[in-house]
Amino acid sequence: MTRTFAGEEVVDRILIGQDEIAARIAEIGRSITEEHTGHDLRLITVLRGGLFFLCDLCRRVDVPLTIDFMAISSYAGGSGGSVRITKDLDDPIEGARVIVVEDIIDTGLTLNYILSVLRQRNPASLEVCTLLDKDARRIVDLPIAYRGFSVPDRFLVGYGLDLDARLRNLPYIATVRDEMAASGTSLVGPT
Ligand code: 5GP
Repeated sequence: MTRTFAGEEVVDRILIGQDEIAARIAEIGRSITEEHTGHDLRLITVLRGGLFFLCDLCRRVDVPLTIDFMAISSYAGGSGGSVRITKDLDDPIEGARVIVVEDIIDTGLTLNYILSVLRQRNPASLEVCTLLDKDARRIVDLPIAYRGFSVPDRFLVGYGLDLDARLRNLPYIATVRDEMAASGTSLVGPT
């Protein structure tokens, strides 16, 4: 799998390998199954980064479920600082048990906004499941029901996380060489 961006090697080192990701997702899937047995579930993710995690996770959850998607764009001046919904959910969530499936929570501002929008639609329950938690940078305290890994304050790529829209298809999560990380710091555009 190519690890280059504009012809340059991007990856500094692999932080979480493919097998480790798969094993943790299986554990999270088991926890979600235990908590929600006997109920229908709605798994919602925010395009595009969360898509990879959602696809793997939903196949590890053994309760009837549906999936739905939102898309947002963040403007320059800080991730989550100013968020706009560019694609809304297709289905109503009133009365549904909802889990928002995220690739990574950084400051928490983006997710905080999404949760406030979804809460107004009166779901039966609203939980958060994130694969990665960059907790050192948290600004808004959010309840996280399911967490894959706590990660350091480094710019990460792979398994859905991009560098200028590329490298989402790396099967592992990696840190980026310092000189390349600068291109990913604006975090503008689709997540
Ligand atoms: P927050 O609003 O929590 O600060 O930002 C969350 C969003 O920022 C994530 O959904 C993701 O799009 C982006 N983000 C945060 N940290 C990283 C990172 O290390 N790598 C990449 N590629 N995106 C990140």
